[in-house]
Amino acid sequence: MRIVFIGPPGAGKGTQCKRLVESLQVPQLSTGDMLRGVRCQSSALGRWVAEHIDAGQLAPDHLVMRIVAQRLTDEDCQAGCLFDGFPRTLVQAQLLEEHFEKTKLKLDLVLELTGESSLLTSRLLKRAEIENRADDNQKTIRARLEVYRAQTAPLINHYGEAGLLESVDGTQQPDKVFADIMSIIRRRSAAKG
Ligand code: ADP
Repeated sequence: MRIVFIGPPGAGKGTQCKRLVESLQVPQLSTGDMLRGVRCQSSALGRWVAEHIDAGQLAPDHLVMRIVAQRLTDEDCQAGCLFDGFPRTLVQAQLLEEHFEKTKLKLDLVLELTGESSLLTSRLLKRAEIENRADDNQKTIRARLEVYRAQTAPLINHYGEAGLLESVDGTQQPDKVFADIMSIIRRRSAAKG
């Protein structure tokens, strides 16, 4: 199964993805992690990516698609994968669709984790204390929530129209969120036969 996770920063995409990786036995492709990997390189590209991440802005669409396409060629991705934080713009969604057409693969499901922004902000600030992530400070968090609203939220309609979207309330207890996700996956798999 190929599943896209969409949700504002702090809605719990990463946490739920990790759980699903264990249940479904497919890898998690976190573009945030991948880009932080590029960021660590002491190259012009690394510095360029760092500028985007540290400002709470998105990395360029084609760059992100190139990194994802490369990862998708790995053996462990052949049976399926979970996209965590990708696509994040309509352009990325289109690039992914073109990539899937070329490689004769398809997306099975888009899971939206919902959450209200004041709760998300306080969750992210707490994470900043625990994980010491450079981009989890109040100014960047506000920028990331705004980027989500302006650039990523339009994907909800896009995937809704494609019949791929299911939404789960990300403010519930993590166990309940996971149970909801699993029941959606079971229902969708049963419908497919
Ligand atoms: P969060 O969703 O909590 O903000 P992520 O780890 O998913 O955290 O992303 C961190 C940062 O990495 C983003 O703010 C953005 O700068 C960059 N990034 C991650 N995924 C993408 C993507 N698909 N396209 C562009 N930039 C991305």
